[in-house]
Amino acid sequence: MPDVADFRSDTVTRPTPAMREAMAGAVVGDDVLGDDPTVKELEREVANLLGKEAALFVPTGSQGNQIAAHLHARPGQEIAVGENAHTYDWEMAGLAAISGLQARTLPAEKGRIDLEAARGALRPAGGHRPACLLLTTENTHNFHGGAVVPLEHLQELREIAIERGAKVHLDGARLWNAAAASGVALADYAATADSVMTCLSKALGAPVGSVLSGDADFIAEAHDVRKMLGGGMRQVGVLAAPGLVAVRDQRERLVEDHERAAKLAEGFLRVADVELPYGLPETNIVFVRAVGRDANALVSALERAGVLTFATGPDTLRFVTHYDVNDHHVDRCLEAFNAACSSN
Ligand SMILES: *Cc1c(COP(=O)(O)O)cnc(C)c1O
Repeated sequence: MPDVADFRSDTVTRPTPAMREAMAGAVVGDDVLGDDPTVKELEREVANLLGKEAALFVPTGSQGNQIAAHLHARPGQEIAVGENAHTYDWEMAGLAAISGLQARTLPAEKGRIDLEAARGALRPAGGHRPACLLLTTENTHNFHGGAVVPLEHLQELREIAIERGAKVHLDGARLWNAAAASGVALADYAATADSVMTCLSKALGAPVGSVLSGDADFIAEAHDVRKMLGGGMRQVGVLAAPGLVAVRDQRERLVEDHERAAKLAEGFLRVADVELPYGLPETNIVFVRAVGRDANALVSALERAGVLTFATGPDTLRFVTHYDVNDHHVDRCLEAFNAACSSN
């Protein structure tokens, strides 16, 4: 296989040798019947890390987010989300289709939902208006350039939600990156929400899976919704096992991804008429705007040089660093980007 520098997403990583070994040796049982010890171990470990009572292994982050929304709100109600939130923008309108929810998008900057807007949005039903008693936060914020949402900001949102009698769900697909970048404990972030979804298959490099955490009653109900959505899996310890390796061995390594993202960003800025719409990256995601150039043409030129990425707008591209991106890939990417911009 040619050595492609793949910056499309941190989902493209292949399992490490330690993960494959753990898969082969995993002790398993029928998890729908509650018989898989490896799944239980993973759920307990993530719940402990997040300071929650219980957790549930789910096939995808989207399913974890959708289960949470389904349980925290009723059909005909609203869910308040930050603009560009993954739950709202990138999950096939699941909020409406699965749970009958109307999304109310709130202005947000670098993942920080506007506090006044949150105060205005969260309210009980009355006077022709539906109840809006669920707020979803996202940390790190994917489509705001992997921004780390400060703990204090999440705490303020939590206070507002408590005042209003509203629930909070934290989409923490990359909460690991937020913790690695800021030094804030996972449990401190998690304490700002009733439920938290974390992905194993993103930055941590596991092949499959996410974990939904919350209090014991919530997770008991989440089991049933997971089954309804077709997410009850049988001898799935073979997938929980690499998840455990990911949670134990990959978290400290994330700072290397962040350093490589910073190096990419600095390199991009040396090219004429290039901007970083979200500023220098705090974690593993870099958005770059090549003013006056065609993003799709740049993507094709990069691909010819063995560098993969996505266009996210007419002149914008996104690059994500991860376990399978090394320093040579970063150098190759910057060379190819520079060359493509010079001839474009
Ligand atoms: C990827 C992602 C998800 C969903 O994860 P899938 O496993 O791809 O369904 C949810 N939230 C955010 C912020 C993400 O980046």
